[in-house]
Amino acid sequence: MKILIARLNHETNTFSPVPTPLEAFAPSYGEAACRDNLGMRTAMAAFIDLAQIAGATLVTPVSAMANPSGPVQAQAYDDLTERIVNAAPGCDAILLDLHGAMVAENSADGEGDLLARVRAAAPGVPIGVALDLHGNITQKIIDNADVVVGFKTYPHVDMYETGEHAGRLLLAMLQGQARYTVRWHQLPLMSHTLRSTTLNGAMLRAVQSARDAECEDVPAVTVFAGFSLADIEAPCVSVVVTGAATPQGVAAAQDVADRIAEQIWADRAQFVYDSEPLASSLARAQALAVGASRPVLLLDHSDNCMSGGTCDTMDVLQAALSQGLQDIAVGPLCDAQAVQALVQAGIGAEVSIALGNKVALTQLGIVKQPMPVRGTVRAISDGEYTVTGPIYTGQRCCMGRTVLLDIGVARIVVTERPHEPWDLGVFQCVGVDPGAHRFLLLKSRMYCRPVFEPLAHALVECDSPGVTSSDYALFPFAQVKHPVFPLDQF
Ligand SMILES: [Zn+2]
Repeated sequence: MKILIARLNHETNTFSPVPTPLEAFAPSYGEAACRDNLGMRTAMAAFIDLAQIAGATLVTPVSAMANPSGPVQAQAYDDLTERIVNAAPGCDAILLDLHGAMVAENSADGEGDLLARVRAAAPGVPIGVALDLHGNITQKIIDNADVVVGFKTYPHVDMYETGEHAGRLLLAMLQGQARYTVRWHQLPLMSHTLRSTTLNGAMLRAVQSARDAECEDVPAVTVFAGFSLADIEAPCVSVVVTGAATPQGVAAAQDVADRIAEQIWADRAQFVYDSEPLASSLARAQALAVGASRPVLLLDHSDNCMSGGTCDTMDVLQAALSQGLQDIAVGPLCDAQAVQALVQAGIGAEVSIALGNKVALTQLGIVKQPMPVRGTVRAISDGEYTVTGPIYTGQRCCMGRTVLLDIGVARIVVTERPHEPWDLGVFQCVGVDPGAHRFLLLKSRMYCRPVFEPLAHALVECDSPGVTSSDYALFPFAQVKHPVFPLDQF
């Protein structure tokens, strides 16, 4: 038995100015692709474990993951997908670890087009897919997979379990114990990423309904929140059900999809995030910090590099300083130019420098000016650390050369590469104890929460003009099909 297993992950923010070339994926091929996933908590790692237990021969053409950014360059998309398509003929089963919201320069439906080509290259071979909860599902994805399972958590802490779920169903199919059908229901609803958390609210209730349906013997039920910062036809919420391929199973699967979709639609207002003016958020943070022994988290969620942010906007820090907040640990802020200058100046040097705001937000029509600061270089590091937190546990991360710049009222971690603060390592690698500050300014939405919330006194979401803002009015959507909530009220 020969099983094709591959990983190709990208969440595309079509408004992001951050390019997505092949190198951004740091791809590994063949045996290295397999090796790279061993001991990881990825869906691909679960596929590998299951295939090995089943005694199958593994074909692992590629493992590639890029942080969210602008559309995948055509050549990168062609190169990575061709490796998967070309490996498909002759395999008995195909298990793919994909995202679901990939847009390439030459494909508005990155996963759908890939799956259609895989299906054509290996007709009749069962295909199982594990997807991110933020997948923008399309008919092409549904039509070209036998099993579709997505994450049930955001922050995503069940990648491995999702792979295990999809893999288990596909192996049962391969062993002749089951046949599946995939049914779905898409809603004209563009959810805000901040409202797609499964920690509370309407999304938690929807996911609970999916779990309840699975307890009633429906093989797999996923609520996809979608990723709305993509100018495609339907960057929308979907419910996807993998059911038994019997007349009764098909009806039950569609029924579950329709029922949960109805529940989500009734709750639609709760999938929309109302932004608070930045000045009020900061005033609230200031009040919360009075007498607190632990830091107040300031989440700069409009510039989240794990959603396509440039990781270099200065709005929140500038506003915080002008409102008198002090003792702020900030990071990481990506500014390769500044890092170069700070490294050259050396530890202990006093410097005046123009920081951040270097990448124009072209599609939003926003160009900002760098922030002039004066400070001392406190530490220089290679920016490498190993994740100890629950997301990407064990992964070795590299932020590029990393500098700690102390401007008195704030200590800023400046990096060469954009990097989400999902682990204490981002601060510890330059000797900063994140718990020892009054405020912690993180360019993050969700990933920071499992690690930083437990050490914080409170959390305040801060909105500003950035490519991951929750203010849809900033984004020139042209391809999205109307009517769609909340762009249209109905
Ligand atoms: Zn996601």
